[in-house]
Amino acid sequence: MPSPILGSVAIFPIRTYPDPVLRLPAAVVGDFGPDLRRLVDDMVETMYAAPGVGLAAPQIGVSLRVFVFDAGAGPMHVINPQLEETSGEYEYEEGCLSVPEHYWPIVRPAYARVRAVDLDGREVVYEGEELTGRVLQHESDHLDGMLLLSRLGRRERKQALRDLRLEAMERGGA
Ligand code: ZN
Repeated sequence: MPSPILGSVAIFPIRTYPDPVLRLPAAVVGDFGPDLRRLVDDMVETMYAAPGVGLAAPQIGVSLRVFVFDAGAGPMHVINPQLEETSGEYEYEEGCLSVPEHYWPIVRPAYARVRAVDLDGREVVYEGEELTGRVLQHESDHLDGMLLLSRLGRRERKQALRDLRLEAMERGGA
């Protein structure tokens, strides 16, 4: 459950690998009522508190197609996104709040464009290169139940999974 702060806005604990909610394809948002606005506000607060540049709803245990991000131009919210175009190539030391304290150089397209809707169901388009392009792709992956681990090469992924298993064992005291 969230720990309430700042009146009505809550900061949620962030789900980490291997929480199964992170592997689920998230459901399309159909209800644009006050609960959705509340969810977006909570996600923005949780993202800034982490701190992170993006956060997808499954990362707080809500399996809906919603993400928020701030790639330097203030907080944006993205509902029911479709990644409609990517181009170019860009290597970036990518991390994820759900796989904390790990960064891997990952190559993805540099440019991405996402078509989505806002809290009122109006169509919005987000696009950008480098950091913005990366965040749009990374968060879209979350809504399809994909973590950045899936974007690693085969050998790196094996090593990453081994490291994460070891860390989980250490945390568990085993
Ligand atoms: Zn992530």
